[in-house]
Parts: sequence; structure tokens; C-alpha cells
Amino acid sequence: MPQPIRDFIGATRIVDVHEHHIPEILLNREVNLLQLFQQSYAGWNQARPYPLPSEKRDRDPMLAAAGATTWEALAPFLENSGSNSFVRNLVRAVTELHGTGEPAITRKNWEALDAAVREQHQKADWCREVLRRAGVERLITDPYTDPLLDARNALGNPYNSVMRLNALACGWHPDSRDHNGNSAHALLQRLGWTPASFDEYLAALAKLVDGMAARHQVALKNALAYDRDVAFDQPDEKLARQAWSKTSPSPAERKAFSDFVVDWLCQLAGERDIPVQMHLGTAILRGSHPLKVAGLVERHPRTRFLLMHLAYPWSRDLLGMAFVYRNIWLDLTWSLLLSPSHFKLALHEAIEILPDESRMMIGGDNWHVEETYGTLKLARQLMGEVLEEKLAAGYFHPPDAQRLAAKVLRENAMAFFRLR
Ligand SMILES: [Zn+2]
Repeated sequence: MPQPIRDFIGATRIVDVHEHHIPEILLNREVNLLQLFQQSYAGWNQARPYPLPSEKRDRDPMLAAAGATTWEALAPFLENSGSNSFVRNLVRAVTELHGTGEPAITRKNWEALDAAVREQHQKADWCREVLRRAGVERLITDPYTDPLLDARNALGNPYNSVMRLNALACGWHPDSRDHNGNSAHALLQRLGWTPASFDEYLAALAKLVDGMAARHQVALKNALAYDRDVAFDQPDEKLARQAWSKTSPSPAERKAFSDFVVDWLCQLAGERDIPVQMHLGTAILRGSHPLKVAGLVERHPRTRFLLMHLAYPWSRDLLGMAFVYRNIWLDLTWSLLLSPSHFKLALHEAIEILPDESRMMIGGDNWHVEETYGTLKLARQLMGEVLEEKLAAGYFHPPDAQRLAAKVLRENAMAFFRLR
């Protein structure tokens, strides 16, 4: 009798390709129940951490002080947003890790849960223990508060990180910043570099990419969907150069500058065999459709792109692209949290249409380990359900399903990021 696919998935350790585990949150010993909600996707129901073009924000609401937990502060998450998938996922994880078998967070049990959260987070090994229980073997984090962070150094052994390029694409002036508040010139200055011209800036970016391995950084991360649209057109070099050193370049000059920098970084990445992760879907929504990046993908056939989140809600368009362009891989993170039922439909289609079994990877995309625990448990559950359906339909025999599950959970990421 072959092992049931759910048991096989439960026993396979995960190489998690995307988290936002950052020292400010992960190393903080003062964590309460309210923070777990505020610093999670459940928190995004209350306040998006990125402004739309029509909005301004003073600070990142996820990094603001949460205050003490009260029922009045929890109720907006649990009752007003109680139907939302992010909330369901976090409630399951918190009650399982911190509770005594209760299925919900209520007016009666929230104080005990809050006390348990605070007590566990005082322990230096709590995060590691939760990741162990989640079956995580390796982990790649996107520490957007510091794009130069050496996560291995800061957070320990299972970690690698990606280098977020948003600030670099917005670096026309020393004062210009990306939506995370990062300045390219400040980052370069930390390394002792002060480029005085656009050409010196491009040379500094090449040195920055060359320094990634020493910082345990295994990919570039393009999250510009939160700063601008993702139509990274054929760069207009003349216009890009006009943006250099201006405090307030025109919208066309800004776009040309960041188009040019993104193109340059994708070229450098291709030459050095470094992959490029890219956020697609639900960000600045009018500009985050996956087909907008087709030109960039076509111009860089040697560059390996890991396109994220099934570009929700445009997963079918993304799958079409991943069939046509053979330099595209899919990072399934977040899509399963946004909508578990859509994820199952999309995973069925992805299994059927992708040109080979190397293409899919998975992760948590979370801030606290509790949410990561819940998300990876959900990922195992949904993948198990889809593969059971594929087995029941006779699409797969058990060895096919097991081989694919091991690749999606672990082996594809090891090979794609050249992890050892
Ligand atoms: Zn993310």
C-alpha cells in the first residue's frame, strides 16, 4: 500500500521561498495577541501597509505600536472581518499553538490566549520551535525594512534573504525613497559608495549585486507593484538620464529611470544566474496585471523570473504566460491565503498546463511565525485535497502525486535558488 498522499505531504519538510520575517518583529520579546493580528494579513483588513496613488501615509501601520490587547481591539478583526480567509487562518493557528483545544477566540478565552502568547514570545527559542512544528527546513525572507540585511547573520541558520530592488529603481536623487521608506543612496553609502553620476550609479548597482552572496542573499525581489505599475517597458535611456539628480522628476522621467534600472538589474541577474522574484496582482491594482511584465520577461530570456502569488486575481493569465515563456517559475505564496477555494482551482490547472514539474514553489509570506505555521498547514491541506482529487480522477498514480508534492514543497526551491 503506498502512503496516503496527505501523510506524505505532512511528512515532507518545506523549503519556504517567501516570508517577511524581519528582526524588528521576530526578535521582539514583547509580543501580545493583538500584535499577532495587527502584524498579519488580518491586519490588512484594517489598514493597508501601502498607500494608493490617491493616499498618503505617515508610517507603516504594521510597525506601529499595538498597545495592550483588549476585547474591544480584537473584535474588529474577529467579528467585523471574521469571514475573511486571513482571519480564519490566523485564528486556527493561534488557538492551536497557544490554546487548549478551543476552536475560536472569544470574549471568554482571549485573556488566557493573550497571556500564553506573551509568555511564549519571552522564550528565545519560541520562533524556532514553531518553525520546527511547521516542518520548515529552509526559509527565504524578504526583510524590506533593510534590503541589505544578512538574514543568516541576523536571524540564524535556516534563513537566506532576497535583496529588494524598489529603492534602487527610485534612486534618481539622494532624497528619493520607495514605499518602504528606503533610499538607494543611503544603502550605497553604508557600503562607502557615493555615485556622482548616472553611470557611476549603474556601476554601483553591479557591485551591489556582486555582494549578494556574501550577505546570504539568493535572489533579487521586485516589489515595485506597490510603488508604480509593472509595465517595465523597453527603457528610454535618454529620458532615464534626465531624471538623475532631480528632486522631482516628471512622471515620465521617473518611469523611464525605474524601467532602466529594472532592466539593468535583470540583465545583471541573468549574467550571474541570480533569480528575480516579482510581486504581481493585488497591489496598486490597476498596474499589477501579469501581462504587463511580458516585455521584461521576453527581453531577458536568460533571467529566471519567479512570479508571485499566482498574480491573483489573474491566475489564468499567469499560467498562460508560464506555458509560453520558459524563463518563468511560480511562487504560490499568498494566493492560498487570499482564497483557498480559488487556489485549489488554480492548482488543478497549474498541474495540467505547466511545461514541467520544476515550476512551482511555496511559502508563507508572513511576519510572525504563528501566521507562517497556519499558512503552511493550510498549504499542505489544500495541496493534499487537490492531489487526492487528481488521484481519484485517475489523472495521477500515487508515485506521480508524491513526486510532484516533494518538488513543490522542497526540491524545486532547493534547485531554483541553488541552495545546498
Ligand atoms: Zn510578500
